[in-house]
This record gives sequence, structure tokens and C-alpha cells, in this order.
Amino acid sequence: MTMMGCCVPSRDTSDRFSDRCSTLFPCLSDPVRRSTLCLRLALVMLHLIFVGFIFIFDQDFRQRSKDQPLYTSIYLLLVVVTLVQYFFTSGSSPGYVVDAMREFAKTEASLRASEVSKNRLGENLLGNNPMNWTKMVMDMYPPAPPGQPATSARTYTCTYCHVVQPPRAKHCHDCDRCVLQFDHHCVWLGTCIGQGNHCRFWWYILEETALCIWTGILYIEYLQASFDKAWLVDVIMIILLSILSIALIFLLLLLLFHSYLVVTNQTTYELVRRRRIPYMRNIPERVYPFSKGACRNLYNFCFARTSVHALEPLPSAHELEQMSVPYTCLDVISCRCCC
Ligand SMILES: [Zn+2]
Ligand SMILES: [Zn+2]
Repeated sequence: MTMMGCCVPSRDTSDRFSDRCSTLFPCLSDPVRRSTLCLRLALVMLHLIFVGFIFIFDQDFRQRSKDQPLYTSIYLLLVVVTLVQYFFTSGSSPGYVVDAMREFAKTEASLRASEVSKNRLGENLLGNNPMNWTKMVMDMYPPAPPGQPATSARTYTCTYCHVVQPPRAKHCHDCDRCVLQFDHHCVWLGTCIGQGNHCRFWWYILEETALCIWTGILYIEYLQASFDKAWLVDVIMIILLSILSIALIFLLLLLLFHSYLVVTNQTTYELVRRRRIPYMRNIPERVYPFSKGACRNLYNFCFARTSVHALEPLPSAHELEQMSVPYTCLDVISCRCCC
């Protein structure tokens, strides 16, 4: 009885508290958004702990901040830029297929309207041959090889969203939407990484890696200077430095891996699940069907993306044949891989 008497009011109180929180902050009523918010808060806290320890316990660093304010300012700027980049990437759209469809429909409608206004007779020239999303997407897939059954729109229709997926798109079960140029769903960022934010993601890993290296150097400098002074602080510093080292190894590997993906114009999903993607199954292993050469891939990744909804067609059988020709010494000298 006493137990029940104690428990019931506390549950009511917690319910009332959560109701009040949901009223004040509507985003907290959604469990997915709540967990994303918790994750973001945890990330900010982690950065504050790792950076804060240096400022609180490292007297030499504080002295250096007074003597060389530029050094500390650049370090703090890197911390702020990394956090801003995290929120920027986390809040950006990876490029959803439904948004691309909406943009396509808008462009088609405006084209049709201008075509009608140009035509004096008022005859809708496009009306006889309407371009719809399904037709446009299906044109991006090469025809099935002779002897094999022809592919239909149904083959590429998502069973969850019921949209026809262009090449490189995949349904994400966490976002519950089809994502263009799907790479992976990042739990750390709470969003998918796709065509719209892969570049931002790469920059975020780079900045986080640089911050990890710089913070690690500061920790090592502190431990070298005051190893026999305050052992408790030293122990905490060593534990934090160990965590930092593990994070750095992970970040460096991730940075290298994503740099390789960028240079070869691949996604993590295409690399890992190549055999499960119907249109990639028959392509030789060392051929990257969407690659335009290392330099062009890099340029497209960094600068040439005019729209987050731009689509990439699959190469024709002839183009694939050219791509699969083995490299010769002359190809290496003439940098065939770059152009
Ligand atoms: Zn879908
Ligand atoms: Zn997702």
C-alpha cells in the first residue's frame, strides 16, 4: 500500500511534467525528434568537456592564451565552426525523391505554360507527348540486355513510398522516405547522408578530425609539462586522451573512406551492397559506373551541384564497355583515371 501510495503521485507528477514540456516545446512530443535533440545536446556537452578541461586545468595553456591570443582564438574558432557544421549538416536535407518529383513537376508545368503562351494557336505541343516522372526515370536505366526480361517501372518502384526511384536512390527505414544518392543513415547526425548533404558531411568529418588532433596535442603538452604535479587530473586527462585517440582513429578512417568514395563517385551503399542493387549486379567489380574521372568527380562534389535534386543516369552498355577496358601503361601516363 505504502509502495503504491508512493508510486502513483510520482508518476502523475512526471506525466504532468512531460505534458508541460511538450506544451512548451512541441518538438519534444515526437520521440524521434526528442532522441535527436538528446543526441545533439550530448555532442555539445562532449565538446565542452574535452575543451573545457584544457581551459580549467592547463595553466600553461591559459598563460599562452594571454601571450598569444591569436593561437587560442583560432582553436576556439575551430571548435565553433565544427559545432556549426554539425548542426548545419544535421539539419540539412539529404535530398528526398518526393522533393525531386515536386521540383520536376513544377519545372514541367512552367515549361508547358511557356510553350502554350508561345504558340499562337494555343495548341499545347507538349500535351501530345507529356513528360512524366516515371518516363524520365525509366529513360535513365539502360534497356535490358537481349534475352533478359525487360525492366518495368514496377521494378524500380519503392514498396514503401510507392515512388519510382531514379538510379542511386534507396528507401531509408529510419527517415521513412526514399533518398537520392543514398549513402547511409547517420545515427550520430540523426539524418540520412545523401546527395544533398554528402559534401557537408565530408567537411564535418574533416573539421572534427582537425579538432581531435589539435585537442590531443594540447592534452599531450599538458601531460608532458605536469606529469608529477596533480595525479588525479593527470588520470582524468589520460582517460580523456585515450577516448580522443580512439575517436581520432575512427574519424581518420572515415575521412579516408569517404574521400575514396568521392574520388570514385560511389556511395557507401553502392560499395557495400553492390550485389543487391539490380542494375549494378552485372557491372564488373573495378568499374565505377557513375565516375566521370577523379578530377571531374571532385569538381562535381565540391562545386558543380546546381541542384540537390539533379539526377545521374546510368551509363549505356557502350560506355560501360569502354570503362571496363584494362589500364595500359599509356593510360597511366595520360591520366585516364583523372579525365
Ligand atoms: Zn521509399
Ligand atoms: Zn535516413
